[in-house]
Amino acid sequence: MFATPFNDRDGYIWIDGQIKPWRDATDHVLSQGLHYGGSVFEGIRSYEGNIFRLHEHTMRLKKSAELLNFKISQSVEEIKDVCKEMLFLNGITDGYIRPIAWRGSERMDLSMEGCTVHCAVACWEWPPYFDTQSGIKLFVSRWRRPGEDFIPLQSKTAASYCMGTLAKTEADNAGYDDAVMLDPDGYVAESSASNIFIVVNGVLKTPKSESCLNGITRQTILQLAKDMGLKAEEDNITPEDLLSADEVFVTGTAAEVTAVIQVDNKKYKYGQITKQLQQAYVALTSDALVLNQAA
Ligand code: PMP
Repeated sequence: MFATPFNDRDGYIWIDGQIKPWRDATDHVLSQGLHYGGSVFEGIRSYEGNIFRLHEHTMRLKKSAELLNFKISQSVEEIKDVCKEMLFLNGITDGYIRPIAWRGSERMDLSMEGCTVHCAVACWEWPPYFDTQSGIKLFVSRWRRPGEDFIPLQSKTAASYCMGTLAKTEADNAGYDDAVMLDPDGYVAESSASNIFIVVNGVLKTPKSESCLNGITRQTILQLAKDMGLKAEEDNITPEDLLSADEVFVTGTAAEVTAVIQVDNKKYKYGQITKQLQQAYVALTSDALVLNQAA
């Protein structure tokens, strides 16, 4: 899918206060970030030079680290400035920004006392994650999302992405685009890296935020639905509810708003409510609307 490996590109990456040539932004192989999932990250999109929800993403980065018991020393404002600077230095207007923070190499037991915390910001041009025009096919995975007593679910930590990569690989191997992951009670939770919405008799429904990452796009869509006068509910969704829904779509910074046209063997139409919310999201992220709102 990607022509150039991510460790072998031109450009610049900010790491621990220094701007380094892309290929030199490295860390030691013995780090808690690599060995014990001690890292947290963000995914942020820039549209025509406007970074969408930069403040919310940066706040979540700091919170993600706190939930894993470590502290990023840079302030929210410092990280936001670095994100803007890196976009500029890499000459990107429409792209994806990846801030990441991880625990260092001071010790290899599981304690984190005395471990340094590193922070880096990279960015690259990234086309839509999915085919947002035709829609995608999902596969209900045997891999589940953990409960809140397994890992802090609102921390966007690499540790949680292990389950996501297992589910995505299973879906890839079965010929699907992505996976539906259930929560420990068997309700629909989310996909490997996006939130799930269904439409039933004109009502929008999404799993409660207790069982998924409360995505920034998810929150934006709930607000847009409210603004459009749509009824929206956060509730438990069973796999049967999903299969009998009129419309299904996923949301995320990378995925944006993408229609789901199939779950397992069940096919769905690319429905009107999905289209309306997709258009509203595109308008919100586009330059024109940002300017209109400012006017
Ligand atoms: N769930 C998971 C597991 C994710 O990885 C993501 C992507 N960050 C989302 C939901 C959507 O979150 P957001 O809208 O904040 O990108």
